[in-house]
Amino acid sequence: MAVETKPVHKLQTDLFINGEFVPSVSGKRFATTNPATGERLAEVAEAGKEDLDRAVAAARTAFESGPWAAMKPRQRGRILMKAAEMLLARAEEFGRVETLDNGKPIFEASRIDMPAAAECLSYFGESADKLYGDTHPGRPDAMLLTLREPVGVVGAITPWNFPLLQAMWKIAPALALGNTVVLKPASVTPLTCLLFADLLREAGLPPGAFNVVPGPGALVGAAMAEHPGIDKISFTGETATGKAILRAAAGTVKRVSMELGGKSPNIVFADADLETAAKGAINAIFYGKGELCSAGSRLLVEESVHDALLEKIVDRAKKMVPADPLNPKTRMGSLVSEKQRENVARYVEGARAEGAKLVAGGSRASVDGKGAFFEATVFDAVGPSMTIAREEVFGPVLATLTFRDEAEAVSIGNQTIYGLAAAVWSRDIKKALRAAKALKAGTVWINTYNLYDPGLPFGGYKESGFGRERGRYALEEYTQVKSIWVDLT
Ligand code: NAD
Repeated sequence: MAVETKPVHKLQTDLFINGEFVPSVSGKRFATTNPATGERLAEVAEAGKEDLDRAVAAARTAFESGPWAAMKPRQRGRILMKAAEMLLARAEEFGRVETLDNGKPIFEASRIDMPAAAECLSYFGESADKLYGDTHPGRPDAMLLTLREPVGVVGAITPWNFPLLQAMWKIAPALALGNTVVLKPASVTPLTCLLFADLLREAGLPPGAFNVVPGPGALVGAAMAEHPGIDKISFTGETATGKAILRAAAGTVKRVSMELGGKSPNIVFADADLETAAKGAINAIFYGKGELCSAGSRLLVEESVHDALLEKIVDRAKKMVPADPLNPKTRMGSLVSEKQRENVARYVEGARAEGAKLVAGGSRASVDGKGAFFEATVFDAVGPSMTIAREEVFGPVLATLTFRDEAEAVSIGNQTIYGLAAAVWSRDIKKALRAAKALKAGTVWINTYNLYDPGLPFGGYKESGFGRERGRYALEEYTQVKSIWVDLT
């Protein structure tokens, strides 16, 4: 069953295997709902192990033989670039489906996420024939070469917060380099990935190169991690899930890359431009409703400017009123599900109980009496050992801490199991760069937050994972090196 979503054509809700939309072997379907209204959006085919086997077999055949395997890299690249143009042309339509499925503001989905997904595709499309091997001048009696070869069948397992964009960070480099992909999107938000499969097919991608198998993570995702026919797992999601996948992948010595959680420090020094820093702090925590792996969820403020900065932030947070995600003016949408809202509410109650001071928001909200909305929430007087300063909330909740000097800022900043991102705000470039070097995080922004470019790698330190997405490092993630020794005697 599918609904019409104007101006969209019919949603695709079957599995996508070997270039076709097919029901699951079991015939099972699961519902996906619009979290902003609670309305049922579609019934999506639920993959089981047999469906996964079919998808892996199709991906294997496409990788080993057939049009995809025979294609010149530039030709692969052209398909991706064509798909990028098509996605950009349909950004409003794809964005609308993303908003309906995820609850995020349509402004973000159509104007930011979809163009970014298209840009990622064209970046990697252009890179398809630009990853080079080497020659090594080690021996007069031989020619020593290295080749970069695709790893094979890539299993991509993705979360619900940026459903198509996160998937694209994996699909685009994997396909550009000649791999094939089996994607398992998060069950709460499978629709744009299915729609994208249709688009890729229209752009000329041959059957089997890309397959989508929505289904329960504990079943389909876990089976992917163990599957002998899958050569690499590229995972984005919670750290706990990542650990389970690592264990499951060990049995087949699978390659894995992991983009996991975060508790990123956003550090504001007294000499920063406070107006810009306040705006940046709001963007850092409330973009994507705070359901963002890189969210600046810990605001670290130098004591002397604490009051001035917090006043600006609280003022702005109070204006971030949850509203209809389909309204282009909305900047705070609905959380992805009722379940996620309850997780967030628990963290808020916990923070109050532990003595943090609530200075903005803190409550569930609704629009027209419906939806999984939550207010933009700010806590002050948070101590580094409080739960709210240590655990990822994955919602619109900011924890404010203070520091006395640079050393303490860095020390508190690094006081976390995570290391995904961080930011530093200061007019003193040496101080900002010193802090950037000392912070143990995969990305550090200086005087800005949440900016991404397809050429700049993204990934974690510590328990935020390993491997990098985007840029030339991503190209390396989806290739393996072969050495060739040519005897010249
Ligand atoms: P999740 O770990 O619950 O789910 C992610 C995916 O894994 C889903 O497709 C899910 O079905 C699947 N899955 C669940 N259990 C599995 C298992 N046992 N084996 C294999 N697959 C399984 O994460 P989520 O709730 O969808 O997403 C939120 C999390 O993702 C947050 O922790 C966030 O920080 C993280 N995230 C990280 C990044 C990054 O780039 N580092 C980006 C976005 C989200």
